[in-house]
Amino acid sequence: MAENSKIEWTTHTFNPWIGCTKVSPACDHCYAEAMMDTRYGRVRWGAGEDRQRTSASNWALPRRWNKAAPMEGIRPFVFCASLADVFDNEVDPAWRRDLFTLIGQTPNLVWLLLTKRIGNVLKMTDPAACNPLLPSNVGIGATLANQEEYDRDRMKLADVARVCQPLFTFASIEPMLGPVILDKNAPDWIICGGESGRGAREMDPQWARDLRDGARRFGRAFFMKQMTGKKPIPDDLLVRQFPTPRVSSPDRSGDA
Ligand code: SF4
Repeated sequence: MAENSKIEWTTHTFNPWIGCTKVSPACDHCYAEAMMDTRYGRVRWGAGEDRQRTSASNWALPRRWNKAAPMEGIRPFVFCASLADVFDNEVDPAWRRDLFTLIGQTPNLVWLLLTKRIGNVLKMTDPAACNPLLPSNVGIGATLANQEEYDRDRMKLADVARVCQPLFTFASIEPMLGPVILDKNAPDWIICGGESGRGAREMDPQWARDLRDGARRFGRAFFMKQMTGKKPIPDDLLVRQFPTPRVSSPDRSGDA
């Protein structure tokens, strides 16, 4: 699946801008900060710091992927964003509008918008507040690293699904910081992963097994991405399913 991305559950990764603020225990070991701030000194992380928009040549890539997709007979997944958060309230709203226009103009791609700020999505896609509608070719996801985050945010994600009608919803339970018991309101796609890198917090494999079983019980697709520290995935956990996108509604991006 991963072609131009090292992330196993997507074909491409696209970053419209770089920079963010930590908002969750899942952010504690943010690799984007470790790379872009600490290592390269390219963008300072945190509240009040400038986000950096990526180059025009980078913004041209999705159009290329979109053009190539029919010839390749695939509808690639594009993960957005690995070095930022699309729904960060410190990002210039005009950048988000540009991003949604780009998404709307690349209908052969399935855009995966993963956020740790799921509570911002409805207001940032509300036309009554002069915001752009969420384009129809997206899957919308929330990082839910433990039971507390799952209990707090799963209904916010369900509300986004009801109002915005994405192709599917998903939860990134990575880094998995504790057991997560699913319920009937679980998103369509459950991605599970342990933390990697220095000081990685341990994920008990049993948490992942229980999550896999919960996804099966509620008929959700399950994708086991990695164990803690990228240790080999036990055979019984090597389940890598993908969601079935709902049929696209007509494009709803007013700018496309
Ligand atoms: S939301 Fe993502 S990019 Fe932003 S600080 Fe947290 S882990 Fe890093």
